[in-house]
Amino acid sequence: MRTSGEVSKLHFLLFPFMAHGHMIPTLDMAKLFATKGAKSTILTTSLNAKLFFEKPIKSFNQDNPGLEDITIQILHFPCTELGLPDGCENTDFIFSTPNLNIGDLNQKFLLAMKYFKEPLEQLLETMRPDCLVGNMFFPWATKVAEKFGVPRLVFHGSGFFSLCASHCIRLPKNVASSSEPFVIPDLPGDIVITGEQVIEKEEESVVGRFMKEIRDSERDSFGVLVNSFYELEPAYSDYFKSFVAKRAWHIGPLSLGNRKFEEKAERGKKASIDEHECLKWLDSKKCDSVIYMAFGTMSSFNNEQLTEIAAGLDMSGHDFVWVVNKKGSQVVEKEDWLPEGFEEKTKGKGLIIRGWAPQVLILDHQAIGGFLTHCGWNSLLEGVASGLPMVTWPVGAEQFYNEKLVTQVLKTGVSVGVKKMMQVVGDFISREKVERAVREVMVGEERRKRAKELAEMAKNAVKEGGSSDLELDRLMEELMLVKLQKEKV
Ligand code: UDP
Repeated sequence: MRTSGEVSKLHFLLFPFMAHGHMIPTLDMAKLFATKGAKSTILTTSLNAKLFFEKPIKSFNQDNPGLEDITIQILHFPCTELGLPDGCENTDFIFSTPNLNIGDLNQKFLLAMKYFKEPLEQLLETMRPDCLVGNMFFPWATKVAEKFGVPRLVFHGSGFFSLCASHCIRLPKNVASSSEPFVIPDLPGDIVITGEQVIEKEEESVVGRFMKEIRDSERDSFGVLVNSFYELEPAYSDYFKSFVAKRAWHIGPLSLGNRKFEEKAERGKKASIDEHECLKWLDSKKCDSVIYMAFGTMSSFNNEQLTEIAAGLDMSGHDFVWVVNKKGSQVVEKEDWLPEGFEEKTKGKGLIIRGWAPQVLILDHQAIGGFLTHCGWNSLLEGVASGLPMVTWPVGAEQFYNEKLVTQVLKTGVSVGVKKMMQVVGDFISREKVERAVREVMVGEERRKRAKELAEMAKNAVKEGGSSDLELDRLMEELMLVKLQKEKV
């Protein structure tokens, strides 16, 4: 029993969207909260608990006996009743099961999240956490939390720049075609983009209406939690707080909380390569000499594009690590996409990882000198935290905005030249374009210097007294005040 005057710990309930790009930073967040003396419960389905959360949480709790435990709360998700295939509990299922209509299923999966509204209500009634960190794709969670007086924070998983760009974007009526560049109105920095590269188009579509619900729920919530750091995008952090959400806290880069080898090596999934072998291979390379190429968890290129990437890499002459995550199977069986004799020709020069790569471990290695990325926010921020200049190859979602941040604001990247959003499969890029961008990014000393400075800033932001560390303290103080007020009543 608590004695009078003793204050209990803050208790966060974290509810991530069931995709690796959301579950990974959520787990990082729970660990961060634990280091600040707060309890966290992660809400997820049984399959995701097993596949993703149980092992790293068990290790974390064992390795940190002085910290508050992280726990898991399971919610049932009746896939088949909701019209989804059996076992479809995360987007990985959608993107790695052969013969599925990915676009349709992805949208159906997104909309099926509404199912969780009632179970969440029942849980909040009994659990009464001090804060609900709910993913952006659960807009109904704001009202549910309000009913029980629980402050609801929205977690988008993306940075300030793309959130601001998405807020400002209005497709100008006077441009001749959707491939004509225009400046995003009101957004600081005169950022140039084309209509073909933005997702916010059909206000009246199912997705358009859903996006509006998300914006409304954000406006009515306690605030927004952002995986970023102030020094990376100060103008956009300020803009966001002045004009978009008013209340936001930046607490990243969250990936930097993973300090132990095991945490980095098995972040997300068991790697498809022996981590020690991989590091040994990198150890044999000169500092800043290898380009790392990866496209996140949802993009998947066709054979023609993979062949072109292989040829472009070969033509660039640079050593490389290339993660190939082909839709339909984790391990690529029939390799008719590799040009004849490619692996013999690039033996010792290149490493192809088929499936899951220990990404942060690789990015942190001194031999890596550039990152060719699809510009998913987690990857991009991991690249920033590792001080890497980047080749930007956006495919869908908010990735084109992230590209503009790297190429037009930070000036640490070279665009490979993707013209339009294609979702999942990607716009076609020739071998010459791959060669040019890789060569350019690996030699640009100014770009590399700026990237290394940003990495220093990222590390300082999460140190004690750094901008993200202080921001988290401020958030926790506010939540503690709310908690104390409630306990007084
Ligand atoms: N990731 C990884 N190994 C892989 C593929 C992805 O560790 O082979 C991690 C990556 O480090 C990042 C996350 O998965 O943290 C992908 O998130 P991101 O936002 O970059 O892209 P998404 O998959 O959501 O498009």
